[in-house]
Amino acid sequence: MSKVLLYLVIPCYNEEEMLPITTSVLTEKMNQLIHQHKISSQSKILYVDDGSKDGTWNLIEKIHQENSLFLGIKLSRNRGHQNALLAGLMTAKKSAEITISMDADLQDDIKVIDKMLEEYEKGFQIVYGVRSSRKKDRWLKRFTAESFYKVMRWMGVEIVFNHADCRLMSKIALEGLEQFQETNLFLRGIVPQIGYPSSIAYYERKKREAGTSKYPFKKMIKLATDGITSCSVKPLTMITSLGILMSLLSFLVFVYCLIVKVMGKAVTGWTFIVCSIWLVGGIQLLSLGVIGEYIGKIYNETKHRPKYIIEKELK
Ligand code: UDP
Ligand code: MG
Repeated sequence: MSKVLLYLVIPCYNEEEMLPITTSVLTEKMNQLIHQHKISSQSKILYVDDGSKDGTWNLIEKIHQENSLFLGIKLSRNRGHQNALLAGLMTAKKSAEITISMDADLQDDIKVIDKMLEEYEKGFQIVYGVRSSRKKDRWLKRFTAESFYKVMRWMGVEIVFNHADCRLMSKIALEGLEQFQETNLFLRGIVPQIGYPSSIAYYERKKREAGTSKYPFKKMIKLATDGITSCSVKPLTMITSLGILMSLLSFLVFVYCLIVKVMGKAVTGWTFIVCSIWLVGGIQLLSLGVIGEYIGKIYNETKHRPKYIIEKELK
């Protein structure tokens, strides 16, 4: 195997309890990989402090001073996991050949790093870390997390099932990612849009060893809403479908009202009012749907996503 320059990118938010453990585990892992000649001795671990309110940054500074394997960047304030991760990836891209992103709590089994490196050697530019089981997650976390992926898929977001943000990306994949200029970032939905040969590496999801989850239910709902509204216009097109359905129903209601009227069971004015309600309701929804279709187009235009990314060129 050639020695590839790897950067591990680790977003950290209030992780002072977890960082000492993470640091010793990752140091051992990186040294082992360097000894096995799987990665270059210049490889690094990049901690991104996402505006932590505890002593996370002081700890990162200390770790960096003691060990040159560790680098750090500090965001000016808490910008959320996705932005912290992007900041780390874009910083790492300047020097790294490949990056692997992981959470600071090491819930993603670090053995996945070896599997990802193997996949990269086979020529894959993106390797998605996928959780093979969530037995160690609490019931509610597992249920909400798995529903999250199902709803996302149903809403038309191209997403890898049970893949969070533990992934390997090569330099060219990161250059592709850089071309996505949108502000509302949902990396799990955007990365599959980049293209290039990609693969999957399975790992066991472990328990958080120290500190608490920085993704409470409220943040998860926000991530899901952000994901849907940043990667899919399906909610808008659903209005059109609802409008068409309502218009068809209004026709059935019209027939029903006529029958009731002919049978002489309707009071004066009833037929007209009921038919009007359904017809006008249908027209309104359909019109909203049409406006929605245009808004969807404008929305897609404003994101300035790359129209294509060239993978190879013969000259
Ligand atoms: N994180 C972050 N900014 C935030 C929230 C979380 O950088 O605003 C980091 C956190 O430090 C961790 C990762 O994102 O490294 C995932 O968070 P956590 O493990 O708490 O989420 P969970 O595993 O419970 O979904
Ligand atoms: Mg976690």
